[in-house]
Formats: sequence, C-alpha cells, structure tokens
Amino acid sequence: MGKMTKINIQTFGCSSNISDSEAMAGLLRDAEFEIVNNLEDSYIVIINSCTVKGNSNIIRNMRRIVKNHPYKKIVLAGCITPDLISDAKNIKESISVIDTHNIKNIVSAVEETLNDNYIDILGKQDIEEKKINLPKIRKNPLISIIPISSGCMSSCSYCSVRLIKGKLFSYPMESIVEEARQSIKQGCRELWITSQDTAAYGMDMDGKQHLPELLRKLLDIEGNFMIRLGMGNPKHFITIADELIEILKNRKMFKFMHIPLQSGNDDILKTMNRGYTVKEFINLIDKFRSAIPNITISTDIICGFPGETDEQFRDSLNTIDKIKPDALNRSRFQPRPGTAAASMEQIQGGVIKDRSREITSRFDWIAFDCNRKWKKWTGNIIIDEKGKDETWIGRNAYYKPVIIEGDVKLGDVVKVSVKQITKHYLMAEIV
Ligand code: SF4
Repeated sequence: MGKMTKINIQTFGCSSNISDSEAMAGLLRDAEFEIVNNLEDSYIVIINSCTVKGNSNIIRNMRRIVKNHPYKKIVLAGCITPDLISDAKNIKESISVIDTHNIKNIVSAVEETLNDNYIDILGKQDIEEKKINLPKIRKNPLISIIPISSGCMSSCSYCSVRLIKGKLFSYPMESIVEEARQSIKQGCRELWITSQDTAAYGMDMDGKQHLPELLRKLLDIEGNFMIRLGMGNPKHFITIADELIEILKNRKMFKFMHIPLQSGNDDILKTMNRGYTVKEFINLIDKFRSAIPNITISTDIICGFPGETDEQFRDSLNTIDKIKPDALNRSRFQPRPGTAAASMEQIQGGVIKDRSREITSRFDWIAFDCNRKWKKWTGNIIIDEKGKDETWIGRNAYYKPVIIEGDVKLGDVVKVSVKQITKHYLMAEIV
C-alpha cells in the first residue's frame, strides 16, 4: 500500500522516544512508505508525543498543523495519556492514536488512516514487546539509541511515565548486545544506553541489578565506539556505584553520568517518593568525582513541587551550589493527571516561575565555572553533529560538547585545543 506515500514524523521528549520514532520510520520504510523531513511535503504526519511535562506543546503543535494543513492526515503516537487523546480529538476528531507500547503496529495504523478508518491502538499487549532489533532510520547515523527496558521500578509521586509505561520490563541481554553489534556494523560510533532508570536494569528478572554485567558485555564488542550511559535513579546507582566506577574507567565509556536529584530537601524527596536523601546523593557524586576527576555530571531539579517552602527551595539552590553539576535540567512542576502529586496542594504558578528563573540564573554561573577547567585542554574529540553555519560539534571522552571549524566530517576523530569556554560549550581549534 505504501507505494512511497510521504510521511513526516515529529518527535517530542526523551531518547527513548527518539528511538521509537527511528523504529517507526524503519518499519514504514520497509513497508514502502517514504519518510520526509518536512511537514509540507508529507501526506500524513505522525506526532510522537511526550506528556511528562503536560500536553500544552503537543496540543499547540497539533493546532498549528490542523490550521495550516486542514487536509493532512494525523496519527498521534507516543507517551499518550487519556486527557491528551480527548484534547487532540477536540481539535480534530478524525485522527488515529497509537501509544508507546504498540509502535510495531505503526504500519497498520497508517494504512487504516489512509483508508479513512481512524483507529486507536492502545495499552500493553499480553506479551510485553521489546522495542529493539527493529529496522531503523536513525536521526543521527553515528548514534545508536538503545533502549534496554521500558517502564520503571519506582513510583515517584509526580511521575506520569510510570503510569503510561507501566512496571519495569528489562529487555533480554542478548538482544541488547545484538542491537549494539548491528549498530556498530552499520557505522555507529556512539551507543546511547537509555531507559527511565538504567540502574534498575534486570531487577524485574531476578531482583538483582544487571547493568554492570550488561555494560561489560557491550564493552567486549569489537569496534571503535563509545558508550554513553543514560539516566538512572540515584537510589539504584548507589548500590552499583563501585562496579560502575571501574566500568567508566574503560576508554570506550564516556565519563558522563546523568543522575536526577529533583530536590535538595529531604522532606520534599520523601513526598516525591524518590528513595534517597540529599546526603546520600552528594556522597554518590563525590564518589564518582574522586574516582574519575572531571567526570561530567548532569542532574535534574523540579521547581515548585507541592508544599515546597521558600526555605526548602533554598535547600535545592544550596545543593546545586554544592555539587556544581555540569548540566542541569530544570523543570517547573506540573500536576500530571493520575499522579499522587496532582492531588496535593499546588503552589502558585508565579512562585514556580520565579524559582525556576532563580535556579537558572544561579546555574548559568556554575556551568561557566565548571567549564573553566577545560580552558587550554588539548585532546581528541569525535565529530558527532553538524553545528550552525560552518561549525561542527564533537565530544571529548568526558562527553563535553566542543565546537570547531574545519574540513572534517561526522565520525572523524580530531585533535583539538580549547581556546574559549562558554557556559554550554567549549570552543576549540584543530591542532
Ligand atoms: S524513576 Fe521516578 S521519575 Fe523516573 S520514570 Fe521512574 S517513576 Fe518516573
């Protein structure tokens, strides 16, 4: 049926969602559909949505598409909540809906939609499906995003992901290793190991954490590649930190850790049901830093969680000051339907905005300060992204983004010397 019908896929959210879009594109290509990069050229658009921070940007985007392209066919996909479906169908009734559990059925969803038979394919199937070893059209041919599980072991009180994706389902280790092998054969130079909580990998199998074992198996694969480990819940990283530190020392591992803190106050962490204390979090960061100096630390903070007092917010500011992360994802609390936090007493929107602004300006200084240590650094980077104008972006072994100009291409490893630092990038010259 495809016969080169043009499809545009719009992706919102995390690496797992990008991986889902890459797989949907691969499945549709193999069914003789044509994947196009711009909306205008497409006959049908798939909106692969993320609702972790609310529906507003998905709905705004959909309104724009329907207003500018009233005849374009739409498939709403991704991390879908019931309220998003009703909001979307209020804008355009005749759409199909396919959620994150059913991406393997994207071809039939598109074919039915093309026949004006609008369908909803929702919910977990009886047999949980692993979303790897699927044909893919990668967003970046150099980067293989490898989801190692779906769902989550934890139940943070603000989180809708757990409600959408369900309990943790770890993918078989041999399937993950095979995905990595195939990716390297296809020319990928970076493997992004991703899930909601990478540190919990395998706990649904036998109650034990199997991430270190998995990473060692991946590092044994022949080839010239680097592994970037995705985010994990600190409470699960704490129990495997010693093993992870030895693994991170391997030259094929980016010296990079993404460990979301969420709040710098223990009472708020308790109400969030995160399962660790601020002290334990700081000890964990100190442990990684003393074993691997200059390791790049990325973390997350939620501003304005229900009940957060000024004083408790100050605790978050002071904790960020103390740990000085290299990257900080700030989010303004948004009550998500069905979560425990949604029924708690909410903080005024203006207060949340002010707190988010305050932590952003504080972090801008910290980010710049963190990059001071890279001034005059000389070493190798792998070019993994085209930058603006004539520039390229590369990553050093600490996953620091380095901007250069020059006659290079994706995948090249070049020796550079840092000339200038900014809060987000290092500017360098080839030497
Ligand atoms: S660790 Fe918590 S915030 Fe993260 S996906 Fe799991 S339940 Fe959600």
